[in-house]
Amino acid sequence: MAVLPIVKYPEPILTKAAREVVEITDEILQLMDDMYETMVASDGIGIAAPQVNRSLRIALVEVDEETGLFEMINPEIITASGKNVDVEGCLSFPEIYGTVERADNIVIRYFDREGEAYEVEAEDYLARVFQHELEHLDGKLFTDKIIQKIQPEELETYMEENGE
Ligand SMILES: [Zn+2]
Repeated sequence: MAVLPIVKYPEPILTKAAREVVEITDEILQLMDDMYETMVASDGIGIAAPQVNRSLRIALVEVDEETGLFEMINPEIITASGKNVDVEGCLSFPEIYGTVERADNIVIRYFDREGEAYEVEAEDYLARVFQHELEHLDGKLFTDKIIQKIQPEELETYMEENGE
């Protein structure tokens, strides 16, 4: 496994729709391993293939040990309901944080590394991270949705005031 360089805004790949994965090759599996290594090394909770300069519909999410790692190939949101506002950051925008409105509850469908299809229901913060990562695959960035910018040094205060 290898830690890959993270693509930062405004690299054009970040605002392009990524291509569907048509076959799960050894190269794809290697990329997923490398994406995991890169996410962990960067202290991230999610990463999308365009962020490591690959235009492919692959995203990884690991919010905590309890929910575990989601390795998603060609993921899509099937249903979305409710709304909430919370703070987000992004590996491609170091030092930028802000509040974003997201659906509260979603169902996603994706294929894992074996090619097995899954449907997963998620709510709250996990649902938020899925939405953030899946939007990367459509070339959409959270900075276009920020309601209120939060300075890195204000993050802790914001978390305390909002009970997290
Ligand atoms: Zn991001």
